[in-house]
Amino acid sequence: MADIKFPCKPGRQLTITVARLLDQAGIPNVLCGEIMLYAYGVPTATWCNTWVIPDHLIEAAFKTLRDASFPICEMGSECLLVKRWGREPIPEYHFHVDHTYDKYAWTVDLHKKSSILWMLPDPTVEPPVPDDQTYMLTTDPRLPPWIPGYGGGRWLECSYPIKIPRPARFLEACFYLYCRDRDGVGFSSYWMVHISYIQQYVEGNPCKGIITYDDLEEPVRQFLELRNADLIEKILGASWASAEQASRRE
Ligand SMILES: [Zn+2]
Repeated sequence: MADIKFPCKPGRQLTITVARLLDQAGIPNVLCGEIMLYAYGVPTATWCNTWVIPDHLIEAAFKTLRDASFPICEMGSECLLVKRWGREPIPEYHFHVDHTYDKYAWTVDLHKKSSILWMLPDPTVEPPVPDDQTYMLTTDPRLPPWIPGYGGGRWLECSYPIKIPRPARFLEACFYLYCRDRDGVGFSSYWMVHISYIQQYVEGNPCKGIITYDDLEEPVRQFLELRNADLIEKILGASWASAEQASRRE
């Protein structure tokens, strides 16, 4: 059973409960979205619980939260709360943890890994090792502390370990998501906003910038260096063409 009661406002206890339930069920999970950005040091304003789950376990993840009394949304992908005016990807499953909502309520969203982080290796249930190149914990000392004007930064060391992508990997993911969605799916501006936020608040964090260009793989590094130059459109087109070619070969 969940150790929280519904309706429930967003907060660390809710996030920890989701992670713990999924971990205990043996379902690898990664936190994304606003709460992850806040741990990166981005001053986000909304607090949806966004989780990425390996595709073959998405059903099991849904059942785990449902069996723990998380309030299911019967509207599914037609729910206005997850459609969010067509600007954000729609989760495979979602729960309304705050039943006092009208139209600005909070949700716990479950996304298939193939829809957001397909380029990353599957996470594990266990915490990543300290030098893992893909994932880290919200308690990782490399994350910045809270400073005024920025997000909350790293969680206390004693907090339950929540797995998140390393900022450099998430930045690369946003680049490929932008490439994928820029031909009319409708989410491309959503990913570009993420890229801008990460550049401004993570790479540019005056206390501890944890992304350097050396961390980033090409062509993302080149993209960021030339972001405001005319070459950008050529790089995007060529990158997506080669990614599509590679996926056809698989
Ligand atoms: Zn809903």
